[in-house]
Amino acid sequence: MQARAEHSHTPAEMDLDCGCSHDHHSHSGGGKKSLWPVVSLIIAAVLMAAGFILRLFDSLPEFVSNISFAAAAVLAGYPVLIDGIRALLKLRLDEHLLVSIAVIAACIIGEFPEAAVVTIFFQVGEMFEEFAVNRSKKSIAALTEIRPDTANVMENGTLVKKRAEEIAIGTVITVLPFERVPLDGTVRSGQSSLDASAITGESIPIEASAGTQSLSGMINGSGTLEIEVTNSYGDSAASRIIDMVENAASRKASAERTVSKFARIYTPAVVAAAVLLAVIPSLITGNWGEWIHRSLIFLVASCPCALVLSVPLSFFAGIGAASKRGILVKGGEFIEKLSKADTVVFDKTGTLTTGELAVSRVIPAPGHTEEETLQYAAGCEYYSNHPIAKAIVAAYGKTDEAAIADFQETPGHGASAQVLGKKVLCGGKAMMERSGLDISALPPAQVYVCVAGELIGAVQVSGTVRDDAAQTVRELKQLGVKHVVMLTGDNENAAAQTAQACGITEYRAGLLPEDKVTALEELRQGSAGTVFVGDGINDAPVLATADVGVAMGLGTDAAIEAGDIVLTNNRPSRLAEAIRLFRRTIGIVKFNIAFALIVKMAVLLLGALGLASMWAAVFADVGVSVLAVLNASRILRVKQEKGR
Ligand code: ADP
Ligand code: MG
Repeated sequence: MQARAEHSHTPAEMDLDCGCSHDHHSHSGGGKKSLWPVVSLIIAAVLMAAGFILRLFDSLPEFVSNISFAAAAVLAGYPVLIDGIRALLKLRLDEHLLVSIAVIAACIIGEFPEAAVVTIFFQVGEMFEEFAVNRSKKSIAALTEIRPDTANVMENGTLVKKRAEEIAIGTVITVLPFERVPLDGTVRSGQSSLDASAITGESIPIEASAGTQSLSGMINGSGTLEIEVTNSYGDSAASRIIDMVENAASRKASAERTVSKFARIYTPAVVAAAVLLAVIPSLITGNWGEWIHRSLIFLVASCPCALVLSVPLSFFAGIGAASKRGILVKGGEFIEKLSKADTVVFDKTGTLTTGELAVSRVIPAPGHTEEETLQYAAGCEYYSNHPIAKAIVAAYGKTDEAAIADFQETPGHGASAQVLGKKVLCGGKAMMERSGLDISALPPAQVYVCVAGELIGAVQVSGTVRDDAAQTVRELKQLGVKHVVMLTGDNENAAAQTAQACGITEYRAGLLPEDKVTALEELRQGSAGTVFVGDGINDAPVLATADVGVAMGLGTDAAIEAGDIVLTNNRPSRLAEAIRLFRRTIGIVKFNIAFALIVKMAVLLLGALGLASMWAAVFADVGVSVLAVLNASRILRVKQEKGR
């Protein structure tokens, strides 16, 4: 079928091209939805029933009931015939053409009841199929309705509705009670709650007051909020989610690719087989009518629509179901890969621990003070986005921007800058060693501070282990993940503590970003699939090395760019949930493929042997498609696990 732009409101134009070009909208007899297809089918069914009743009267000549059957076939079948002729004109073999030929042939050989039954059955099936596909598409499309396109702005004392696209960064917008937030921003005033379930899958609303970060797509509670816009419409969280879901269809799973390849070879092969089936036995037996009939049954049964329709739809449903839970997937490819993975590697800071670190201890070197250490450290780190830097800047709290120049940062090492006219280095062990500084006099710490070539102190920071980290590790093991590993750039002490708190036995500490890549490459050897979970800050190379890169957090653009999967709500436990959901998706895909193939092969065989009627063939085509599509839509209805 062709998912035509004007009809599919699906975020991504699903590429459901099975080469049989169903045209689900042609029976509606003209653009708008009308009742005519249903009414005509009912009348046709009545005519068919009348035909069977008339047959009961032996005294009536057969042509009377045949007129009734023929009328039923024409009424139900004319749209099929029109589509069939269209396909013929385009030299394309599709199921409408096949059914048209079958029905006309049935009439010619005098099988009017069969002609009526086949057309009616086929049309009912098509209608169900359309219904099932549309319903799944709608529930997926609902996901993209999380972004309002207007925003309220106060102008001369009155609220004016403006197009959200036109709102500049820095503008203050008003979000009225129970409205959806149109743009990302920071709450300036007001008191309310924000329901983020549409973008993070988190069911518990967050409190909102001055200073709260609000993301587009969240739903305001009962208060009015004034929000200062921090991102343009196109860059807003909701837009990014929508883009991601929309683009997801292009990263196809190998199962999807195989199916469309299969359809391409399969259709001509089946047609060739049908021609042989019609010609060879006929030449031998001379019974052309019988063998052409068998060959038609064979052809109708052969349409690969069930597969070509249901497989991409299943992956799409998996992507949709995941995004409802705050799990954004960049394509069916990753559904397959994640469900197979046996090694899950976590970054520590920002992933297993919360992104917000706090300075736990400042250790001045002899002859220096805590205040001095923190002051230079904060100056040096002022422009860095690293969680460690943010903790230090927050701990000092009074950095003077004017005193800082020449800021530079080396990922996994640290930062440097001119502070109060002095060259300051602020970073881990590796950075100090590279500069030839001896740190043995100070206890192990994440950050050492060096001013004008002299080590003046160290800063220890710590984060709290996320409350679902240990549970995640346990669940992953229950799901059969063989290795759960932690890789960190932090020091051995901090690493050991976190690993223990999470129940992780395999970990490596003191790694530079390139060491993480090497470590991951080692883990990939002999693994069925590796997953790396990071926060997207300076772990982009590792995220890209893993078979599946999972980035946490929606706040950072980096996460969205770097990850194949993004967990928007900072909960590692969503990873276990994603694995369960995706395994189920793959299970349904496999079942559908097996089911469709078995039914089709059986009917093809029986058809060739003259044991299957045209009804069975029609069932093997539309019936199986409907069942497969309905089965796929079960993925969307999986109950969401309670927000933990
Ligand atoms: P993790 O692997 O835990 O995410 P990172 O790779 O981000 O850690 O950082 C590893 C180490 O590099 C940190 O523990 C710290 O010692 C040092 N480091 C990295 N960036 C900075 C920075 N901006 N300031 C100070 N130290 C840093
Ligand atoms: Mg990190």
